[in-house]
Order: sequence, then structure tokens, then C-alpha cells
Amino acid sequence: MILKGRSKSVRHQVLEALSYRTELTEEDWKKLQNQVKGYEGEVQFDECARQLAGNVWVLQDLLLPYEDTTFQLDTLVARGETLYHYEVKNYTGEYTQKGGVLRSQYQTQIMDPESQISRANTMLHNTIRRLGYYFEIKSYYVYINPAFHLYSERKMDAVLFAGQLPQHFRELNKKSDVESNKMKQLLHELMKLHDPHYRPNKMPHYEHVRRGVVCGGCHSFEHTTTRQNLICNSCGKKEAIAAAIVRTAEEYVLLFPQKKLTTQALYEWCEESFSMQRIRYCLKKNFRRHHSTNNTYFTVR
Ligand SMILES: [Zn+2]
Repeated sequence: MILKGRSKSVRHQVLEALSYRTELTEEDWKKLQNQVKGYEGEVQFDECARQLAGNVWVLQDLLLPYEDTTFQLDTLVARGETLYHYEVKNYTGEYTQKGGVLRSQYQTQIMDPESQISRANTMLHNTIRRLGYYFEIKSYYVYINPAFHLYSERKMDAVLFAGQLPQHFRELNKKSDVESNKMKQLLHELMKLHDPHYRPNKMPHYEHVRRGVVCGGCHSFEHTTTRQNLICNSCGKKEAIAAAIVRTAEEYVLLFPQKKLTTQALYEWCEESFSMQRIRYCLKKNFRRHHSTNNTYFTVR
């Protein structure tokens, strides 16, 4: 059972929103492609993990505070009294591994999967200890893409390749799945610690970002509005105006965390596509309202 689902990272969402509102630098464009590829890999892993059966709980992409930083866990699976932790990499091509360093055949790309996974394992271990729990944690590094080949001098127990996943999950399904209330409690505490609004440092910044309401499907700026709907002139997608306002407000918050979300600001950002009254109504209904000396602004609930 999935207790917490997956969503795109804040960096991924920001780069994506910017990609149709401005011209990304080559570097940011590459970063976006990496985010897209990484996310696709995670979704593919989730697809494989659907063969998990019995009493299992799954938490997807957790961001947990740790000392003065935040660490990410791609997937956490709880079964019986054991936690299985997976980090997913969607690399393609041929790589060689020597002494914990991974190099691609074409570009020199150096990573250290084993120390990465053991670092995450330690942080998770310390986090659950601090919360007062003592469960075994098994961490795995998953190369999800079948078109990934790794030449290594030695066996790596913590590494799983795409082709090994079905067997890995079959083995897991044979393990005891006696429900543990303590484990359930821990998972809920981890979900409470999760920070959905975490913004990493060094987010992309652009001076010129195009205003307007984009289509939720094809991201075109051209649309027609009826009394209740926004209809895209490019792909024909129809969306309730209330939903389009909320979606655009969320994107505004994502792109401009330093600005205050007010009715006026959103009205201008939407290039006057919707009335002030309608925007005010949607913001009141879907966001948290705050009053300051001379205006009312909203934040995400
Ligand atoms: Zn469209």
C-alpha cells in the first residue's frame, strides 16, 4: 500500500515552468533533461514495485531534515520489522566502476554510488533512532534502465539492476509480513517530518519570465475562456477556470517564492484572463489567507 506518493522535485517543477516561459540556458536545459530522465526512472521503479504483495507500506520520495540540511530518499518500503530503502538511477550506456568511482565510456562522469547509499542509510538510521525506533534498514542502489551496463571488479551487494528487480521483489514477498504497529507509527512520523516545500540552494533565476496562463496539457499561452472553462487554442484541452486559477497560482508561488501572492499580483500575472472577484474567490478557497497592514496575501496550505 502506498502511504505517500511521488511528485516531481521542486527543481524539476521550476525548470519545467521556466522552460515554456523563457529561454533556458544550455546548462539549465541539460539539468531539466536530467530531472526528467531521473523522474522517469523513479516512475519505472514504482511500476516494478507494484508486484509487492502482502502487508507492505511504501513511502515515495521523502525529504527529511537532518542537522542543518535535508536528505532525500527515493523509496522506502516497510515490511514486518524491516525497512528497505532504494535509490534509483536512470543511467544509460556503459560504465566501469573502480574503487567506488563510476565512469561513463564517453564523458568522464564520476560518482560514488556506494558511499552515497551508505550515507543515506546512516542518516535514515540516525533519524529513526532519534525518534526512538530500532528497525533494520537495508539500502539498495537501483540502476533502473536495461540499457545500462556496468563493468566492475567486484560484486556489489547493495546494487540492483533492472533485470534483477522482479526476483528481488519476489524474494521480499516471501519474508514475514506480520504487521507491526510500531513500524506504522514510525512511517507516520516520517511523513510528518517530510518537507514538501523544500527548496534547494542555487535555484535557476531569470529576469524575463513570460506572464500568462499556460495550457495544463501543451503549455500554449493561447486560449479562449467561456463562463466556466479555459479552452486551449492549440490542443483543445478544456479545464475548469477555478482549476486553472489554482494551478497558475501554485506555479506563481513556485517561480517567485520571494513575492507575495495577492489577488492583484495573480490578476496581473494571468494577464487579466480572469476577473479579480473570481481570482479572490479561488485564492480564499484554496490557499491560506494572511493579513498584513495594507493587504491580504495567500500561502500554500
Ligand atoms: Zn493545450
